[in-house]
Amino acid sequence: MAVRPYIVGNWKMHGTRSMLSEARAIDRAAERLIKVEVALAPPFTLIHATRKEAGLIGVGAQDCHAAEGGAHTGDISAAMLKDAGAGFVIVGHSERRADHGETDADVKAKAESALAVGLSVIVCVGETEEQRDAGKAESVVARQLKGSLPTADGAAEKVTVAYEPVWAIGTGRTPTTDDVSAMHRAIRKVLKDFYGEEAGAKVRILYGGSVKAENAAELLGADDVGGALVGGASLTAESFLGIIAVAA
Ligand code: PEP
Repeated sequence: MAVRPYIVGNWKMHGTRSMLSEARAIDRAAERLIKVEVALAPPFTLIHATRKEAGLIGVGAQDCHAAEGGAHTGDISAAMLKDAGAGFVIVGHSERRADHGETDADVKAKAESALAVGLSVIVCVGETEEQRDAGKAESVVARQLKGSLPTADGAAEKVTVAYEPVWAIGTGRTPTTDDVSAMHRAIRKVLKDFYGEEAGAKVRILYGGSVKAENAAELLGADDVGGALVGGASLTAESFLGIIAVAA
């Protein structure tokens, strides 16, 4: 397990202000947070309130637009996220890639715009079941990384990669520890080729996909897993803190 695992909750399109009590409860588990870096990515509408209610944990967003501003009805820029209190943004989640047709180039542009205003980024990659069955999981993920990772000066220091096999998201299914280890080793190699040996070695690689307290030890124990990106199990303090307790 990583020295200080990074456990990030992605609330997706869940949460009204009544859910801020969950964020508060997560934040109050302060003594456990010393050993674990914890963050939440609530919907846009809760970023500001979550930042105010939860002072210890990281707060971020689930997406941003690549442009600085302009005629993009319904979209949110990286600068707006920062202004609302976000410290990071998730880009390239498979639900964005699938539901909104986001390409690697789109993801890279979003990541660059986030870095430009001082946000950190979590770049998501992952293969579909069909691609894994065809033996293409590592090549697909390598291609996504090369197309999606930002290249601005110092980018590697602000980037986290989340490996999320699409078929494991919200399904209760997870890869074997060996498969997670193999993929994380492959991702590390791409990162070192891409950012250079030293910078590429420092980028954190999270695993995401049906992580819960019951399987967290196994998944976090796979090679080069620096933490977890958690969807469903981050929606209540009880289930999220169960994962954090395993990571601590
Ligand atoms: C996610 O969507 O990032 C995710 C990992 O979801 P879940 O934990 O629900 O599989």
